[in-house]
Amino acid sequence: DLHPIRRALLSVSDKTGLIELAQALAARGVELLSTGGTAKAMRDAGLAVKDVSEVTGFPEMMDGRVKTLHPVVHGGLLALRDNDAHMAAATAHGIKEIDLLVVNLYPFEETVAKGADYDTCIENIDIGGPAMIRAAAKNHRFVNVVVDVEDYAPLLAELDANDGQTSYAFRQRLAQTAYARTGAYDAAVSSWMADAIGDAAPRRRVVAGKLAQTLRYGENPHQKAAFYTDGSARPGVATAQQLQGKELSYNNINDTDAAFELVSEFLPADGPACAIIKHANPCGVARGTSLKEAYMRAFDCDRTSAFGGIIALNNILDAETAEEIAKIFTEVVIAPGADQGARDIFAAKKNLRLLITPGLANPAAGGMAYKQVSGGMLVQDKDNGRIGADDLKVVTRRAPSDQELADLLFAWKVAKHVKSNAIVYVKDGATVGVGAGQMSRVDSSTIAALKARRMAGELGLPDTPAKGSVVASDAFFPFADGLLAAAEAGATAIIQPGGSMRDDEVIAAADEAGLAMVFTGMRHFRH
Ligand code: 5GP
Repeated sequence: DLHPIRRALLSVSDKTGLIELAQALAARGVELLSTGGTAKAMRDAGLAVKDVSEVTGFPEMMDGRVKTLHPVVHGGLLALRDNDAHMAAATAHGIKEIDLLVVNLYPFEETVAKGADYDTCIENIDIGGPAMIRAAAKNHRFVNVVVDVEDYAPLLAELDANDGQTSYAFRQRLAQTAYARTGAYDAAVSSWMADAIGDAAPRRRVVAGKLAQTLRYGENPHQKAAFYTDGSARPGVATAQQLQGKELSYNNINDTDAAFELVSEFLPADGPACAIIKHANPCGVARGTSLKEAYMRAFDCDRTSAFGGIIALNNILDAETAEEIAKIFTEVVIAPGADQGARDIFAAKKNLRLLITPGLANPAAGGMAYKQVSGGMLVQDKDNGRIGADDLKVVTRRAPSDQELADLLFAWKVAKHVKSNAIVYVKDGATVGVGAGQMSRVDSSTIAALKARRMAGELGLPDTPAKGSVVASDAFFPFADGLLAAAEAGATAIIQPGGSMRDDEVIAAADEAGLAMVFTGMRHFRH
């Protein structure tokens, strides 16, 4: 799948690195084609260049709106070299192959950023460039397309490494980059127009996805909203089948996603598990010997908050669990299936939304996470970090018992899904107190302990369930105070990343209090 480059078309607005690239190509015997300004720059540097207008038989016209839009260009990019009919057509019409396209587009984004007027922005929408890029990228089985100055050096390195040829894998990467560029380019045009004409209806906004649903409103009734899917077939709220209930709202979708992603941390083979979510934070997560028991234990963590919550299950919803869930108001239940008995029970609850997925999410799967900020977007890998018992480092004199260890790992999985600062108390495979979203870790610790005490009240327990529990912290304890608050509440073991300047102090305090503590070496901030 190695193919040589014999003929190249260069048409660039940003002429950075152009001459060096063209010289390197010419030195390898590559024939160079080019458009007006690009050709002039190359000629000025003493390079032999053929004008595209000479090849097309048409001058560049209409202020450059029409330069390369011609069958001899697009045929040369799109012809399948191993297709006899394509090559016969090329010969019949005097079309010669173009093996390399180097294009960077009219600087539309920069023009908008400079505050240019409407007509100037319109004139800076490149037409022929994207058309050629998309054609060359489609034909990457044979054709190389470079849209970024950063890729000039790698292209030359590839040619050096392969005796003037490029590999299929290399051309694939170039093509993928090319479509990212044309996609982003048209997105920029559409976003600019939305602002220019003052129309920002979410269903007409450009995002990388497919419009799935125009929502009644967003997080609040005065916000318009829409739901876009990214086309992946992964189990989740976007691909779930809704069996009954009202249309999902913006907040429903957000919370259902949080619930399902959390419960997916618990493999069905390890037993039933349930997560209940309110405002994107868990208010109860538990395992059980049955699904019903898992639900009831999750519910008991914080009965007050669980009202109107969203429930995710890691096993097929059965009738006895459905019956239990139906006792209070719940917005959404999501599960990898529901048996007929469960469906019959829910059928009487017209408003309850029941979503069925083809399986659980894969918490270790890769993917991107996006966050909008004013004037931009933050992009990062999805937090798919996972740790097992082998990754833990015992830092205290006392090592956790087997039961503590199981609970520590459970608490750690939950903490990953709690907004920072996250403190999670767990006992016997169930959360007994969750402190979420506080600006100080010690406050999260205090709130989690307080919730555990309130649970004792709600359930009529003789003592707080925090007694004999374990605690997870999503990031290190900067001081000993948060840890001491946990110890005071009755916790016996701690899991946390470690890595604080004051780790020694924190470890000493843990030893003093007789706690077992393990470090994960991994943090799970979630904001
Ligand atoms: P040059 O500086 O060579 O005159 O122009 C290079 C620019 O023209 C590149 O940004 C390229 O994407 C763009 N371009 C090439 N062909 C066409 C075309 O047919 N129409 C338009 N509007 N732009 C083109």
